[in-house]
Amino acid sequence: MDYFPIFLALRGRKALIVGGGDIAARKVRLLRKAGAATVIVAPALCGELRALAASGDVEWHARPFAEADLDGAAVAFAATGIERVDSDVAAAAQRAGIAVNAVDRPALSSFVVPAIVDRSPIVVGISTGGTAPVLARRIRAEIESRLPANLGRLARFADSFRSAVKAKIGDAGARRRFWEHVFDGPVAANMLAGDEHRARERMLSMVNRPAEQPRADGMVHIVGAGPGDPDLLTFRAMRAMQAADVVVYDRLIGDDILDYVRRDAERIYVGKAAANHAMPQDEINALLLHHARAGRIVVRLKGGDPFVFGRGGEEMTYLRAAGIAVEIVPGITAAAGCAAAAGLPLTHRDFASGVTFVAGHGKGDSEPDLDWASLAASRQTIVVYMGVATAGTIGARLIGHGMDPATPAAVIENGTRPDQIVACGTVATLAQTVARRGIAGPALLVIGAVAALAQESTARETHQSYAPDAVPLATAAGALAG
Ligand code: SAH
Repeated sequence: MDYFPIFLALRGRKALIVGGGDIAARKVRLLRKAGAATVIVAPALCGELRALAASGDVEWHARPFAEADLDGAAVAFAATGIERVDSDVAAAAQRAGIAVNAVDRPALSSFVVPAIVDRSPIVVGISTGGTAPVLARRIRAEIESRLPANLGRLARFADSFRSAVKAKIGDAGARRRFWEHVFDGPVAANMLAGDEHRARERMLSMVNRPAEQPRADGMVHIVGAGPGDPDLLTFRAMRAMQAADVVVYDRLIGDDILDYVRRDAERIYVGKAAANHAMPQDEINALLLHHARAGRIVVRLKGGDPFVFGRGGEEMTYLRAAGIAVEIVPGITAAAGCAAAAGLPLTHRDFASGVTFVAGHGKGDSEPDLDWASLAASRQTIVVYMGVATAGTIGARLIGHGMDPATPAAVIENGTRPDQIVACGTVATLAQTVARRGIAGPALLVIGAVAALAQESTARETHQSYAPDAVPLATAAGALAG
C-alpha cells in the first residue's frame, strides 16, 4: 500500500486553497461538504468561487500566496495549475508539517484525494495510488451503481436506534445478529424504498420485543426489466434483483436478464409456455402474497414498465390491501426501447405532437375496443402493444375512420435484443409487413409519420435497407396534412 487511507475531520477547521480557477473550485466544493473553514488565496477567482466569496461562504485573500497563509491550516491544497507556484506552496507546507495536496502532482503531495462515492454519512474512497485515474473513475461508476441512493438515510436511521438497541440487547453477539437482521430484512428494504414510516414502525416493534421476534412480513418489489437488453435495466431494478429471495417472472424476461438475479434466489416462472396457459392473475397475486407473508423479499419481474400493459397496478393494489409493502420500480417500456433501437422518435416537432399507447387486443383475443375515429384523425404516433395478430384489422379500422392508407407504419419485433427485426410498410400493408418478415412477437406496431424514419433491418444490419415500401417522412407528412 503506497498511501495510508484515512478520513479527515475538517468541520470548522482551516483548509487553505491556493488558486482560484476550476481546479481550485472542485476542491472547494468537497471541502465545503466536509464543513471546513475554507480560505482561498489567489489574485483572481473564477465565477463560482467569486460567488462563494461574495456570500461569505469562503474567505478570500486577493493576492499571491505567502508562507504565513499556512498558519493554523489543518490541510492545504496547491491548486493554481502552475507548476512553479504549486511546487512552492507544497514545499512550504511540507516544511511546516502541514498535510498538502498539489492537485494532479503526486510527487509534490503528502496525500492524494481519492475518487469518492458519497452516500453521507457513508463515503467510499477509491485510490489507484495515482497510477490510473480513469480506472478509478470506472470503479467509482461501478460502486455508484450498486449503492442505493438512500443508503445514507438508512445509516442515519440505524444510528438513531443505536443506543436503544444497546440498552435492550446486552449481549454483543445477539446485538450483531439483530443488526444483520435489520440490514438484510424488510426494515432496510422499506427504508431503501423510501418508506421510512413503515421501517420505523417495524424497527420499533423489533427493538421493543427482541425476544419474541415475530416473523416480519417481507415485501414485494414490482420491477420493470425493460424491453430486453440487460443494459437497459435501471440501477434500482438491479439492486432489487440482487436482494431478492424469490423472483417471479414471466415470458418477456430473457435469460440474460435473469443472470442478474441473486444466485441463491428461488425463481418461479409464471408465463405462458408454448401451448400452455399463463398462470392466472389471482394465482400470481396469491403466490406473491404467500412469499411476502413468509418474510421473503420478493421481486416480481416484468418486461418493460410494470404500469404499461403489465398488470402491475392490480398486483400492487392486491398486495397493499393485504398490508404488504410494495415498491414499484419503473422500467423502460417497449415503445421507448424499440423507438430508440429503430431510430424513430415517438414525437416530432413537425410531424407528431403526441403519442398514444394502445393494446392491440381486447379481453381474450377479441378485437380491441378503441376510439378509432380520434386515433385516425390526430397528428400523432400510435404505438400498438400486443397487436401482431390483429395488425390487419387495426390497419383497416384506422383507414375506415379516415386515416390516409399511405401513413407509414413500422413493426418492431424483439426490440433492443440481438434478434431485433424492424419491418417497414404503411398502415394499409400492416398485415403483409408482419407476414413478409414472419413476425410472431413480441412486437410493436408503430403507426404515424415518424415511422418513415425507421430503417428495415435486423439488429445486425441496422442501416441496410430491404427496399421497404415506406414513404419518406416529408412525403408522408405532406400526405397527412393534405
Ligand atoms: N409492460 C410491458 C408491456 C407488456 S405487454 C412494457 O412496458 O413494455 C406485452 C407486449 O409488449 C408484447 O406483446 C409486445 O407488443 C410488447 N413488447 C414487449 N417487449 C418488446 C420488445 N422487446 N420488442 C417489441 N415489443 C415488445
